[in-house]
Amino acid sequence: VKEVSDVLHQLGIKEVNPAYSTGLAWGGHEGRTTRTINSPADGNTIASVNMATAEDYDHVIKTAQEAFKVWRKVPAPKRGEIVRQIGEKLRQHKEDLGKLVSYEMGKILQEGLGEVQEMIDICDFAVGLSRQLHGYTMHSERPQHRMYEQYHPLGVVGVISAFNFPVAVWSWNAMLAAVCGDVVVWKPSEKTPLTAVACQHILREVLAENELPEGIFNLVIGDAEIGSLMSHDTRVPLVSATGSTRMGKKVGEAVGARLGKSLLELGGNNAIIVTEHADLEMALRAIVFGAVGTCGQRCTSTRRIIVNENVYDQLKERLQKVYANLPIGHPLDSTTLVGPLIDKPAVDAFTAALEKVQQEGGKLLIGGEILNGEGYETGTYVKPAIVEAENHYEMVQEETFAPILYLIKYSGDVENAIELQNGVKQGLSSSIFSTNLLETEAFLSHWGSDCGIANVNIGTSGAEIGGAFGGEKDTGGGRESGSDAWRIYMRRQTNTINYSREMPLAQGIKFDI
Ligand code: NAD
Repeated sequence: VKEVSDVLHQLGIKEVNPAYSTGLAWGGHEGRTTRTINSPADGNTIASVNMATAEDYDHVIKTAQEAFKVWRKVPAPKRGEIVRQIGEKLRQHKEDLGKLVSYEMGKILQEGLGEVQEMIDICDFAVGLSRQLHGYTMHSERPQHRMYEQYHPLGVVGVISAFNFPVAVWSWNAMLAAVCGDVVVWKPSEKTPLTAVACQHILREVLAENELPEGIFNLVIGDAEIGSLMSHDTRVPLVSATGSTRMGKKVGEAVGARLGKSLLELGGNNAIIVTEHADLEMALRAIVFGAVGTCGQRCTSTRRIIVNENVYDQLKERLQKVYANLPIGHPLDSTTLVGPLIDKPAVDAFTAALEKVQQEGGKLLIGGEILNGEGYETGTYVKPAIVEAENHYEMVQEETFAPILYLIKYSGDVENAIELQNGVKQGLSSSIFSTNLLETEAFLSHWGSDCGIANVNIGTSGAEIGGAFGGEKDTGGGRESGSDAWRIYMRRQTNTINYSREMPLAQGIKFDI
């Protein structure tokens, strides 16, 4: 606890328990409902925050709109320079912020540090991008005419984030949006507001050092109600929302009804195909990291293993051996590989899913218990489970945000495995383990995996920021982070310039007056 309070102090928390921040100023210290944040690791209270009201939200949006008028006129590479400074500050605070992510959310320290590293990486990416926000130049059909397209900033970008990546996903959005000339209003998950407050402290320092206006990066602490205000708000041209499919459908509908833009990053139901040509040792390592990492609470967590019948028994046995010895414990303990679930409702969902899948015919091979005793007093620690199941079971079709791994057998050709892999509503991440080129290429082909991410001899989780991240179908269709994902944060404009003294019309239309 002493160490955690030092960390909070380092990150500037404790002095305030705000409801919002408009860049430089904190607001909402009194008269609001308070939410106390307890660590899922040991149940201790870390700090409390106030929940923003609708008036607070309105104030933040107005401040952001004012800041946009200034920020959009700052040249993009100069905006990149601000993001570079943010990246530097994140480097300085990596250790502390990583610890706080781990303690507030429950992921192990290595993953907490990894999350901060992702933020640093996206800052670096965005700095380069700030000189690369380019459109195409086309040839005009009319003589002495020039045609090209350019990208302009959009305005206020709303970011709604999930608890499981409390800071990385926001930074993917915020840093790209910032170099694109947008201002950002962030509504973090109500389960993990403290890491958001810590990040806001870091950004405030950079804004103040550069004498930038209030309102470029903003924070509003609230629950679904604030998210809903944002989705319906015509002042927010783009809402980027990360979370459950249930939430995404609501946000997508509300934003769509006002013809705004939404970027949806929703649930996954990710599978690894293991063919008879797989290197089983490699597959084993990837499966375990994918299935139990972050205690099964990643959108890219491995939930289904589709295994060829010829290697099924061998893989099943090896997986059970590893699962029997998983170090489960406090996420800040360096020997731990599996931390707690976020809260009691998540534990209930884990238990209910295991019960239901067994009623459907699934066979629980290992795990599923809720741990108790010393170190496990919170009731949030569970033993990751493996269940033999069939793909069509209702529970297998759903994303349960907990460490449950379904083992599914296939026979015959890899196309049978691909059909099973695609046979769910979600379409985020997928992998194949095989050393056979015909199988791996079939998996990557246009009749192969239908997911936004398809990997070969790499697991489903742990994407790099350089590629576009996101998925199809119920995963929402959005793309964030690398490649050309930046385009959604800007509006495209096509420009045609006539440098002749004639007035020809396109398509050769004659219209003489
Ligand atoms: P959640 O849907 O409960 O909440 C996510 C965010 O949405 C929170 O900030 C919440 O306050 C807000 N919210 C909830 N209802 C809303 C509404 N009606 N309108 C506006 N905002 C609303 O999700 P969670 O439990 O925090 O996170 C887990 C889920 O997120 C999983 O399904 C996981 O797969 C998904 N996820 C997806 C990605 C991705 O990139 N595809 C990344 C991380 C998490």
